[in-house]
Amino acid sequence: MPELQKGRIKGVNGNLVTVEFDTAVMQNEVAYAIVGDKRLKGEVIRVRGNRADLQIYESTAGLKIDDPVEFSGDMLCVALGPGLLTKVYDGLQNPLNLLAEKAGFFLQRGLYLDALDMESVWDFTPIAKPGDKLIAGDYIGSVPEGIFTHYIMLPFRFAGSWEVVSVAPAGPRKITDTVAHVRSADGEERDVTMVQYWPVKLPISCYKEKLLPTKTLITQQRTIDTFFPVATGGTFCTPGPFGAGKTVLQHSISRYAETDVVVIAACGERAGEVVEILREYPTLEDPRTGKTLMDRSVIICNTSSMPVAAREASVYTAVTIAEYYRQQGLNVLLLADSTSRWAQALREMSGRLEEIPGEEAFPAYLESLIAGFYERAGLVLLNDGKRTGSVTIGGSVSPAGGNFEEPVTQATLKVVGAFLGLSRERSDARRFPSIHPLDSWSHYRSIVPAEDLAFARATLRRGQEVNQMMKVVGEEGTNTDDFVTYLKSEFLDFVYLQQNTFDAVDAASDDKRQKYVFAKVIGVLKANFKFDDKDQARRFFQELQLTFIDWNYIAFGSDKFEHQEEVIDAKIKERIANA
Ligand code: ADP
Ligand code: MG
Repeated sequence: MPELQKGRIKGVNGNLVTVEFDTAVMQNEVAYAIVGDKRLKGEVIRVRGNRADLQIYESTAGLKIDDPVEFSGDMLCVALGPGLLTKVYDGLQNPLNLLAEKAGFFLQRGLYLDALDMESVWDFTPIAKPGDKLIAGDYIGSVPEGIFTHYIMLPFRFAGSWEVVSVAPAGPRKITDTVAHVRSADGEERDVTMVQYWPVKLPISCYKEKLLPTKTLITQQRTIDTFFPVATGGTFCTPGPFGAGKTVLQHSISRYAETDVVVIAACGERAGEVVEILREYPTLEDPRTGKTLMDRSVIICNTSSMPVAAREASVYTAVTIAEYYRQQGLNVLLLADSTSRWAQALREMSGRLEEIPGEEAFPAYLESLIAGFYERAGLVLLNDGKRTGSVTIGGSVSPAGGNFEEPVTQATLKVVGAFLGLSRERSDARRFPSIHPLDSWSHYRSIVPAEDLAFARATLRRGQEVNQMMKVVGEEGTNTDDFVTYLKSEFLDFVYLQQNTFDAVDAASDDKRQKYVFAKVIGVLKANFKFDDKDQARRFFQELQLTFIDWNYIAFGSDKFEHQEEVIDAKIKERIANA
């Protein structure tokens, strides 16, 4: 162990601490400011001459000029190994469930805990054999973790090719037990355990290649999968003003998306929001297994009351854990709520560094940081050339006043594959999810035929035009055909775009159901109904709408579902026959 590099504090400005040192300090290395018997963790964010600026991840109260600082020689890393699932961490991977026991809720200053349980025993099965040549990311063995097989890999930091000298036999192992002994081409020997450490700001890229994400990620949210789909391994964002429904939408997606692992990076907007997540999330049932959703989730959370620097770290911790499970050949969904809080942390640090500010005082490099974060998503072909894994990233953005022209939304829009813009107008009208059907877009492939989708969009657009017109000339000044177009667009909105996330059945609509119901909706939009007057048209659509919404609340494929469909079909048929 080399002797620790030491330094002395020369200035304290909020979480920014300037330190003078003697020899060499590395950009982004972790350092500890020592105050009494506490060691406060921080990161080197700038080196100038013999001075380094540290961002301390917690309150710097009590730090004084000439207090000592220790440099660790390593960048901010996360521990990766079995046992990550079910954990709730803060941005520095302190397990909050344990912290709560040890220190009351949330972090006591200077207290850092093992991210993974060092005493748990896992049932190890070897895969590699002596003589095998491995590269970083190759599988050495596996342990069962929940419903998944968790592979123990040659650590991502091992450069080049390593020959397996020995592998532990099958049996119970702790994560720090040696499971393999390996030798490099130039004779260096190392032990491999079940836990490895990886610097959060570097993408894990131990795979053959990145593939184009083409498969639709079924979120079971109709507006998303049908109108603005997300690809497995792709990226999307959900910007929206405060209270528009970003958090509720992310919860629905995390619960119902057809993915293996869910990683949630919660940077709370409101005080208490994160506490709510911690209270509610573990009670959610996993529709896939009937057990708790937490069994295949990891939550990284920060509140607005935590220091900005820890908030900045949390999205990186989250995405690194997501990438780790991608290396397992799993599909991982990472949801970050809200990335605006992350951007604000960047802005605060940049301000303290007195950097030349960009737009709205965000750092000039905001765009490249946001791009760098979303670029860590992707569908990848793993080392064996057969298995794939993916990380899909969805970030919410909360622009002040709901103005999408601001820098964080704009920078995000440049890099994501789908934009689901939440609208204040819709949430005020309680049309949930409040994804705007005309302003949003997606580059990914929908689950329904393109012509039908184009027809539905055209109906929505025409409906909106008629609605605008009616605001000027009134309903009397509108002819019946135009009025029917408007009613059709409202029908599409009420029976298909809107989805009741609090109803056990309607909350989730799988792709089979979406395709089936959408075809029926298109049938209504295309039908050539004739009405004597607008009142008759309004009554017809009101009734049809109600029977359709009832249909949404009935389990797909059940007898009741078929019966309700007959009722709907009869109504449509009767109307067309009367024409
Ligand atoms: P944001 O995260 O955008 O600030 P939230 O997701 O917290 O907004 O939603 C704010 C409120 O709006 C919720 O507390 C709830 O009352 C209502 N809401 C949001 N989404 C829905 C929904 N899908 N169905 C019904 N109500 C909703
Ligand atoms: Mg929210």
